[in-house]
Parts: sequence; C-alpha cells; structure tokens
Amino acid sequence: MDFNGKVAVVTGGGNGIGRATCLGFARLGAKVVVVDRDADGAAAVAAEIGRGNAIACTADVTRAADVEAYVKAALDAFGAIDCFHNNAGIEGRVAPTAEHAEADFDAVIGVNVKGVFLGLRHVLPVMIRQGHGSVVNTASIAGLVGTPGMPAYVASKHAVIGLTKVAAGEVGPLGIRVNAVCPGPIDTRMIHEIERQVSPNNPEGVEERYSAGIPLRRYGTAEEVANVVLFLCSDLAANVTGAQYVVDGGRTAAPAGVS
Ligand code: NAD
Repeated sequence: MDFNGKVAVVTGGGNGIGRATCLGFARLGAKVVVVDRDADGAAAVAAEIGRGNAIACTADVTRAADVEAYVKAALDAFGAIDCFHNNAGIEGRVAPTAEHAEADFDAVIGVNVKGVFLGLRHVLPVMIRQGHGSVVNTASIAGLVGTPGMPAYVASKHAVIGLTKVAAGEVGPLGIRVNAVCPGPIDTRMIHEIERQVSPNNPEGVEERYSAGIPLRRYGTAEEVANVVLFLCSDLAANVTGAQYVVDGGRTAAPAGVS
C-alpha cells in the first residue's frame, strides 16, 4: 500500500482506532488531517506525525459548520481529500430499550448517524469534483447483530451500514468507493467504558466473559482495525465498494456455541 501524494482525513483521529488510522496513513506517505472534538488528542496525534505532514482540526462532527471547517482546512492545507475515514463515534449509555433515556438515544444517534451523514455530505462533493476518492465509515458488529442493552448504539451502527450502501450506489459511477468497517471488541477507551457500565465493580471480569465468545479469544487492537481501513482506502481494494468488512476475531461468524 502506498499513500504518497495522498491526503487523508480522519474523524475521531485523536484517540483509539482513528489515531491508529492517522498513524498508519502517515507511515505509508499520506498527509493527514486529524479531526476530533478532543483538541488535545488531535494535536498530539498531529504532532506525533510531524509538522508539514499533518494538521489538527478541533471539530464536533454533529455540527455542520464544524464539518465544513475541517473540509476547508484540509483543502487549504493540502489541496485535496483522497481518503476519508468517517470514524468518530460514541458508545452512549448501556440500558435496555424499556429503560433507555430519550436524551441518551438522541446523543448517540446525533454523533454516530448525523455525524457520519454530515461527513459524507461535505466530503463527497470534494471527491466528486476530484473524480476520485475512497471513504471508510466506521460501523461495528453492532451494525450487523443486536446487542442487548445498547439500542441506540445498535440502531446507529445499522444506520451507518445503510448510509454506506446508499452512498456507494450514488458515487460509484463517479469513481468513488464507500465501504464500512465493522469492528468487534477493540482495546480502546470505548470498550473499557462499556465494561465499566456493564459491571462497575468488576470490569476485568467482563473482558474475560466477552473474550470467551470470540474464537481468537481476545480483543482486537486499534492497529488491526486501521490495517483494514488502510486496505479499503488503497488501490488494492479498487473493486470493493458498498461492503462491510468485519474485524472481530470471528465473534459474529462463530459466537460461543455448545462445545
Ligand atoms: P475512542 O473513544 O477511543 O475514540 C473515539 C474518538 O471519537 C475520540 O477521540 C472522541 O473524542 C471522538 N469523538 C466522539 N464524539 C465526537 C464528536 N461529536 N465530534 C468529533 N469527535 C468525536 O473509541 P474507538 O474505539 O476508537 O471508536 C472509534 C469508532 O470505532 C467509533 O465509531 C466506535 O463506535 C467504533 N467501534 C469501536 C469498537 C470498540 O470496541 N472499541 C467496536 C466497534 C466499533
């Protein structure tokens, strides 16, 4: 994979999976725009990549003005957007549907669905003008199967897969690819926050229980997800669009059975 001469924009780039994607793009030669509402996280990742090769943009992906601003910043700094990892997301509150607070539902849908939509809404016109580009939206295995206790998150990630399919159909004829990556449990802040909510007194026990249902018997790493995002953005995936790539150690293919 070679991203020399390419420009990559990554939302949620200040931490976790987005950070790993930023560092991977940079390692393979791309200029990187690190977008996050966590200003310190975005600045730290841009600094790690190095001056001249990355910029940090503080933005809330739920606000159209912020999205327009990071698109403009990318074009002003580097002149194009070749790759877009539309990745920022939140886990929200763990509570069953019958008890789920309306405000918590709205918050998750706001970031995970509207934020992804706004990213597409403002980056795709740039790619259409260019006549090329590749987008990877971060969904989840929660976009493929239900997870009791996470109605908003599961609904939001199913929606991300829907947005991916619609956009892939719209812009494929224009030379632009749009795919989704579906991570399983990945060792970032997010999964440990979910563990804490599920089992405040014994979060380590939750990781053991979750891992027992994963054929590879462990959480994935942010880098392992980033590697698939980089592949999907690269020319190696030139015939791949509208697809969902699962990175979950086999969890959805072969959940814990009777043996
Ligand atoms: P993380 O919390 O480490 O990173 C998420 C990043 O998104 C943070 O830097 C955060 O500041 C940023 N962010 C959140 N809301 C934002 C907003 N409104 N505007 C701008 N930035 C915002 O978690 P992560 O695990 O790296 O999550 C990245 C993506 O991967 C998310 O979409 C998440 O749903 C998805 N995912 C994670 C896992 C997992 O197990 N960690 C599994 C499946 C999918």
